[in-house]
Amino acid sequence: MKYAVAVDIGATQTRVALGNDEGEILELHVFKTSSFPGPDEYLRHIAGLALSLEKKHGVEVEGIGVGSPGPLDMKKGEVLKSVNMPFDRLPVVSALKSLTGKKVAFANDAVTAAVGEKYWGAGRGLENLVYVTISTGIGAGIYVDGELLLGKHGNAHEVGHVVVDSGEEMTCGCGKKGHWEAYCSGSGIPRYAKFLAARNPELWEKSPLKSREPLTAKDVFDAFREGDALARLVMERVRKFNAYGFAVLVNVYDPEIITVGGSVALNNPDVLLAGLKEEVEKYALNVVPEIRLTPLGDKIGVLGALALGLGLEKKVPLV
Ligand SMILES: [Zn+2]
Repeated sequence: MKYAVAVDIGATQTRVALGNDEGEILELHVFKTSSFPGPDEYLRHIAGLALSLEKKHGVEVEGIGVGSPGPLDMKKGEVLKSVNMPFDRLPVVSALKSLTGKKVAFANDAVTAAVGEKYWGAGRGLENLVYVTISTGIGAGIYVDGELLLGKHGNAHEVGHVVVDSGEEMTCGCGKKGHWEAYCSGSGIPRYAKFLAARNPELWEKSPLKSREPLTAKDVFDAFREGDALARLVMERVRKFNAYGFAVLVNVYDPEIITVGGSVALNNPDVLLAGLKEEVEKYALNVVPEIRLTPLGDKIGVLGALALGLGLEKKVPLV
């Protein structure tokens, strides 16, 4: 049996786990990414956990696999200033190597999740797979012809930043306009709801969302299920923009399956995934494959990082 440490860096939460080559998680720690004064303390905490997990379970790990929100400089092994992250720069690979003496494999979080889907989830045995995460932001990880796609810096398919709105109504967290995640992500949905509220004051006056401060994506989904007219307008637009985004992925990558994860999708498949395939078919030239929630749930990032830590993905080697 082989073992590895898996690190799933998120804008909100970080997960560190010890797992084996059967895809079993032996122990998982979850903590807030923002609860550290700086990147040094944060990476020291992760390294300390990695070593203590290895010692506690009496095993020797093959390596440490890390998935992180981008943009990355994969060659340097660093996270650059990320839209949703609390740190300016995170030297993941050099810090974890020197603090633990272990080899480290490092990739974008959505890419890492796609690796998880390929090795432990719905992508097993498939050569063409798209994984989409709808969380604080929106991202994707993609296999074409069995090859994991990375790009020159490991930042391929930052699909949250494709333009879905030619009206450019919303400005994205990245500073540019009309981007998919500015409308449809966990951070975008409440901001877009406020924007539409300002345009439709008669709906806002009657909406239960008026009393929510700060307004969250969950509030908007809850109000939608309760029949609120403003939330219905928001979700009509969100579903439309999601269809544009997924159609881009179908047309560009011709996948055999699309799986979807991330907290916003995992908590709201009844709203976001119901009828999505039919909606995507309106905009896609290629045959639209099955679009489903990942069977790996919120463990997909950790399981992908585990596969990386075990050295299973040749495009993201342990170094
Ligand atoms: Zn953007």
